[in-house]
Amino acid sequence: MPPTVSKVSKVLDDSQRFGDAPVEVRETDHYQQEYIEDFADRWDALIDWEARAEAEGDFFIRQLRDRGVRSVLDVATGTGFHSVRLLEEGFDVVSADGSPNMLAKAFRNARDRDLLLRTAQADWRFLNRDIHGEFDAVICLGNSFTHLFKERDRRKALAEYYAVLRHNGVLILDHRNYDRLLEGGAAVRSGRSGVYCGKNVEVGPEHVDDGLARFRYAFPDGSAYHLNMFPLRRGYVRRLMREVGFQKINTYGDFVSSHDDPDFYVHIAEKAYRFETDLTEI
Ligand code: SAM
Repeated sequence: MPPTVSKVSKVLDDSQRFGDAPVEVRETDHYQQEYIEDFADRWDALIDWEARAEAEGDFFIRQLRDRGVRSVLDVATGTGFHSVRLLEEGFDVVSADGSPNMLAKAFRNARDRDLLLRTAQADWRFLNRDIHGEFDAVICLGNSFTHLFKERDRRKALAEYYAVLRHNGVLILDHRNYDRLLEGGAAVRSGRSGVYCGKNVEVGPEHVDDGLARFRYAFPDGSAYHLNMFPLRRGYVRRLMREVGFQKINTYGDFVSSHDDPDFYVHIAEKAYRFETDLTEI
């Protein structure tokens, strides 16, 4: 039987649509084509919630509690891992993402744990158009900020995060150690980043240059997906954060303040105004 019209459109929607020259795809908007329904369904096999929770420990919860945070805006909810953890810990959470497929999956994941996620579809570049209110913290985790390909988009997104924070709020944002990748090193070395914990998923770079890191994610059922990402350097992200107004930025490597060759960096950027003598940075 020939496919119905709705089946045809689903097939189209469910292709990542990188075209004939995938390494030429370097657009911020392309994330909408990357997080298709099929990939969203497999994301949890990639991250493995239990192993990830164990690897992270209470790092983020401690960082938030130490700063007296109660309300959190998760701007890159994905399938809901951090939103759910924070709800379980008693934080007041709003879960945003630009991808409706990821948000739908997150909502179901929370519901399966008897939690109700407050979701909002919002692109970071226009965050304050779609999200109202102020938050003690914004989190952008799981190597998400890497989806922005233009410096203009990165500045705008950071400015939108800054604006939605209370006067003394905090932004927590992570990314892969792309410095090492750009210098020809391995994507994974310490194995302690706690981000991609799925045991049967092969993750690796297929192409790396100054403007693109293209990763392949292969699953045990033979399916493979890709993400095209911008390789963010540690120092560059810290500089952008400072330039949009964040006053103090502490950077951790694999959750340790002194780790100099981690798999992942976590930046904790504070908005509260500091006098220069107070600016001790890690
Ligand atoms: N934080 C989750 C985790 O750690 O499992 C999800 C991470 S996933 C790598 C990145 C998420 O960022 C996706 O759900 C994607 O839809 C979202 N995203 C990418 N670019 C975005 C943008 N410009 N605005 C809003 N969301 C975006």
